[in-house]
Amino acid sequence: MRNILVIEDSPLVLKILEHLFRQETDLEPIFCASLAEAEVMLETSAALFFAAIVDLHLPDAPDGESVDLVMRYHLPCIVLSGSYNEQRRDELLMKGVVDYVLKESQHSYEYAFRLLHRLESNSQVKILIAEDSDATRHYIRHVLTPHRFQLLDARDGDETLRILQEQPDIDLLVVDHSMPGLSGFELVKLLRQKLERHELIIIGLSADAKGSLSAMFIKHGADDFLRKPFCPEELNCRVISTLERRDLMRALKQAAQYDALTGLNNRRAFYEQGLKQLQQAQRSNQPLSVAMLDLDFFKRINDEHGHASGDSALVVFARALAEAFPDALLGRLGGEEFALLSPLEDATLAAALDRLRECCATLHYAAGAPPLSFSAGVYQGEPEDLETLLHQADLRLYQAKRQGRGLSIWRTAD
Ligand code: GH3
Ligand code: MG
Ligand code: MG
Ligand code: MG
Repeated sequence: MRNILVIEDSPLVLKILEHLFRQETDLEPIFCASLAEAEVMLETSAALFFAAIVDLHLPDAPDGESVDLVMRYHLPCIVLSGSYNEQRRDELLMKGVVDYVLKESQHSYEYAFRLLHRLESNSQVKILIAEDSDATRHYIRHVLTPHRFQLLDARDGDETLRILQEQPDIDLLVVDHSMPGLSGFELVKLLRQKLERHELIIIGLSADAKGSLSAMFIKHGADDFLRKPFCPEELNCRVISTLERRDLMRALKQAAQYDALTGLNNRRAFYEQGLKQLQQAQRSNQPLSVAMLDLDFFKRINDEHGHASGDSALVVFARALAEAFPDALLGRLGGEEFALLSPLEDATLAAALDRLRECCATLHYAAGAPPLSFSAGVYQGEPEDLETLLHQADLRLYQAKRQGRGLSIWRTAD
């Protein structure tokens, strides 16, 4: 739970904020209606707060004094204002507030909440600022600091490459074009040979007046570009929008690869990765085992205990499967059918399947529901192609079903 200090006197705005906070389970507002009240609150309990939402005009603080108060306590500060003034906005951003939100519509208040959530995730985001000009580097640092990013500096191309190599978890690179050694543009070309967009976001920078440079940057894999000089808000917006795009891309990749219910690989991902493992095994002349597992009488669970109980059975079974085979490639191929691919030897694989079978009998997934049982078909042999391996395992699975279920049919290649 994060405590948010809200300094606001307007009853209407308070009502809207209260309504929005009720929908946020992890944010707890503490309201102060005046500067004097906020002073007492911060003096006694500043350490309790994660961030502040602050009205620019209060009866006892008509000129933004509440912002100065919050900044003195180094709290991330989101400013609310009834009117727009460009000069004021730039002053506030240079002072180090997170952003300036107009009290206009529901959307602007929702934007303030998006900022609060971003602040939480930003502390995990590493940004490398590659820029040889001290003044520009300090300016970028100054603008990004209120957003709680982890910031790193590089002064030339070689230092940039070294830091990226040492810290592969860097999320975003802001890179100047004209630097000693490798130029920003050369860096982009080099980095994009190894790192995809969802692995490293790149924003180019240049004082060059020609539009062609920004196009070149983007064509060679930069995600965005800023022409110097730029205002704080422009940098903020580009950093935040590229991060949001990256997160969306990662979520899409995740949804395309993993089964939403169990979190295991879906059929497509299992086949894709299975093919890679198979090729590797063929190169090193190593045998692979494939097993197909299918829950027994699963339809009865759905029919007698409800679909939700069936879902919960699939989830607990998938978890037990992952625990029993921590190093194997696992997948939910569909319905209540699972597959695994592993270089484990017969005896080890058999022992793990036995343990899984024992574990299934004790798994709890719904009140009054019967213990889970599964049948398995296992095939071991020289890897030919993935389809053949899976087909052979499937034939043995059917044999196991015919022979009464709850067992594994296991034979090496015949
Ligand atoms: P057998 O022992 O021969 O394998 O019989 P079974 O009942 O396990 O297999 P059957 O193929 O007859 O039924 C599988 C059922 O699984 C039918 C389908 O509605 C259900 N099912 C498939 N996907 C899901 C799911 O995501 N959630 C739930 N709850 N049920 C699912
Ligand atoms: Mg430069
Ligand atoms: Mg079944
Ligand atoms: Mg089935």
